[in-house]
Parts: sequence; structure tokens; C-alpha cells
Amino acid sequence: MRCNYCYEFKRDVVNVNNQISSEQIEKLIERVAQLFPESHILWMLHGGEPFINGIDYYDKFCKALKSTNLQYNVDFKTAIQTNATLLNEKWIEKIAEHSDLLSERILSISIDGPKEINDLARVTLKGASTFEILEKVFEMLNKSQLKYTTISVVGKHNKDKWSEVYKFIKSLRPTFSKFIPCYNFDSHGYTEKLGITPMDYAWFMTQMFDIWIKDIDTDLLIDPFVTIIRKISGKEAKWCEYRKDKCEHFISIYPNGDMWLCDTYNQETMSQYANMGNIFLLSDDDLKTNLENPLSKCDYNVLYHHITARCRDCEYDKYCAGGCIPMRYDLMQKSHNIYEEYCNGRKFLIDYVKNAVNQTKL
Ligand code: SF4
Ligand code: SF4
Repeated sequence: MRCNYCYEFKRDVVNVNNQISSEQIEKLIERVAQLFPESHILWMLHGGEPFINGIDYYDKFCKALKSTNLQYNVDFKTAIQTNATLLNEKWIEKIAEHSDLLSERILSISIDGPKEINDLARVTLKGASTFEILEKVFEMLNKSQLKYTTISVVGKHNKDKWSEVYKFIKSLRPTFSKFIPCYNFDSHGYTEKLGITPMDYAWFMTQMFDIWIKDIDTDLLIDPFVTIIRKISGKEAKWCEYRKDKCEHFISIYPNGDMWLCDTYNQETMSQYANMGNIFLLSDDDLKTNLENPLSKCDYNVLYHHITARCRDCEYDKYCAGGCIPMRYDLMQKSHNIYEEYCNGRKFLIDYVKNAVNQTKL
């Protein structure tokens, strides 16, 4: 696929074209188990598109996790983030066969709304629709026992269509849906590639919240609503953007073996804050340190304290927790106004949900 808002293909061609072989990943899983006996680690397959390597690759990966769990008494699980366009009956059978490995957030499928919305953004290399493929995939999934979640990007293509998007996503019957903003800005802070502003996103979410909260006929859980309600109720959030401990819990391994904190970090401009070397070149001691204490290997703390300095005096901090660090850094570089609007959008959304919670005593 070549989604119209995606920056993946601007990235280093080494990362786009390389892949970690089955043998490499099997060895890596075993190596990590040897270094961390009795550990619990979630191995998330993320894109690009994780299913592009084929069923055998996925099968070997899952079998390696299972045999390592048995041999080393570790609890390794997996989660999948996919565009789902490659899924067919065979794939669904294979995913079901290994479903005992799937963690709570399970199989997450990207889709932005009904056909007329989704196909404005999520298209093939030649610009063709992906919607019909996805329709069939959801039909097959609903006939299977597999549970799945959805993730939708809120961008220029759907920012005024909260009602259509809500109804459509609900009709797909996911167990959970997450909506994330498309903050694509050029170097002067103007939106590009279906980008929207933080207030656009906040407005979309508040309008959807109104529909969701009045919908007595749904058990669909939606983020960011669930996360904000948890924070208001004094509970910890699962979404990293609303937690104090964030990027240090996510380590990305790129196809060429480079290890970074979360893949939201821009590889061209944020290396010193998040790059931890190449996993295939690290000694066992270094790999252990990287995984145990990733912040000792990069300057994340410097960035974190710089970006969150203003949060210390912010009355929303106990709910907001500072947002996404590299996202805010990127906005700060591009436009003071957008950087300010990021905070205003979060405050607006938090206040909106909080007021509704107070009124309805949720
Ligand atoms: S970079 Fe952003 S999305 Fe990734 S872990 Fe950190 S806060 Fe979360
Ligand atoms: S609203 Fe802005 S300043 Fe306040 S906690 Fe959130 S990110 Fe920090």
C-alpha cells in the first residue's frame, strides 16, 4: 500500500528494502530469553506491513516464541498491527492457530472509515481502492473466532465525518478502536499530506464522544476516551502518550537491525535521543544494558526534560502526562503556534470528557 499520509517511504531505503530473516529472528528471540530468564515481553509485528513476508515467516516466528517460552520459562507474546490487505482464509486460520500468543490488544487493523473516506487515504501503490479487500477480510474475521481491534487515522479526509466514521467502525464489530491524529506539517508548520491541526483532531474526537456516550447500543471501547476516563478516575493509562513512563518501554527493531526507542522518532533528526545501535552488532552485555536500561544508551532524558519542562506547572499534567515526546519536538521545530495548539487541543479534549463524566457520573 501507499497511504497518502505515510512518510515510511521517505525513510532510508535500507530500512524499507531489508528484512530480518527467520533465522535471525529465531536466534534473537532465544538470545533475549537467555539474557532475561522469566521475563514477559511483547513482540509486536508492525509495519510497513508485517504480513508481507508470508505465512511461513509468521509461522516460524510464532513457533520460535512458543518453543522459547517452554524452554526458557519466559512469557513472550505477540501483537500485530496490519493493513490486513493480504489476509485470506489461510492467513486467518494461521493467526487463529497461534492465537494463544496474541496479547490483549491482539490483531489491530488499520481502516479510516467507509469506502468514500478510506479510499481517499488508504490506497495501493497505483492509487487503487483497498476497501473491497478489507470488506471481505472483516467478513472472514467475523466468521472466525478471532478478536480484533481497529486503528484509524484522523486526517483531512475524514476530520468532518465523525458520525459516518463512528457508525462504520462500530459496524465492523472490533473490540476496541483507537483514533490517532495525522499531524503532517511542512517545515513552516503548514499542514500537508492530509495533515490536520491539533484543534481539528480535538474537535473530531469531542463530536464523536457525544455520539459514543449517548449510544446505549454499543459496547465498543474507544481511545482516547477510555484513556482519559481512566485518568480522570485516578487510574493509570495504557496509552503511552498519557503515561509518565513512555518511550523507554518501547524498543523498535528495524529491518536492518537498528534499535531505536519507539518508531515515532524521526531517523534523520532524532538519532541522538533514541538510537541505540544495531542489535546484530551488539555484544550480549550491551544488548542486555540496552533492553534493561535503554535510556543509558541515548539522550532521551535530555529531550524528555526539555519537552516536558512546561508540563511541570501545567494543571492538566495529571491527565495529559505530556503527550508524545518526539511529536511535540517535531511541532516545536516547525511552528510555535502549532506547538501551543497541541497543548490546547489536549486540554480541550480532556475538559470535554471530564465535564461529561462529571455530569453523567460515569
Ligand atoms: S514516541 Fe510517542 S508514541 Fe512512541 S512510545 Fe514515545 S510517547 Fe508513545
Ligand atoms: S497540556 Fe501541554 S503543558 Fe500541559 S501537560 Fe499536556 S503537554 Fe504538558
